Amino acid sequence: MSSECLFCTLAREGDHVRKEDGFVAIKDIHPKAPVHLLVLPERHVESFRDVGVFPDEEAARMLRFVAETAREAGLEDYRVIVNVGEGAGQTVFHLHWHILGGGTLGGFG
Ligand code: AMP
Ligand code: ZN
Repeated sequence: MSSECLFCTLAREGDHVRKEDGFVAIKDIHPKAPVHLLVLPERHVESFRDVGVFPDEEAARMLRFVAETAREAGLEDYRVIVNVGEGAGQTVFHLHWHILGGGTLGGFG
């Protein structure tokens, strides 16, 4: 964990939409769709590149948590995005999954 990290702080004491088994979901502060949630692991992992640090069981639970968060938000159709590295638009260097939905999503790109 890094005390300097915004998402470590939000994982600890943010306004959680869901929290379970080491993962939390929060609302994105600048939503890019009618529903825009972020799923974060409580533990500090810089990016998806490092997903290998999760034991298989924890990685599987993270994916289930993403799907369950979307389902509980009432979404059937939605997009899941992970920006990996600055060049791909990552601005917060604590792994997070974007869940976007609640409207018609344009084509990818
Ligand atoms: P990324 O660009 O993939 O690293 O995503 C970072 C996301 O975090 C952006 O969509 C931001 O709008 C969002 N964000 C930044 N600060 C906060 C905050 N304090 N609470 C919730 N979301 C935030
Ligand atoms: Zn962190």
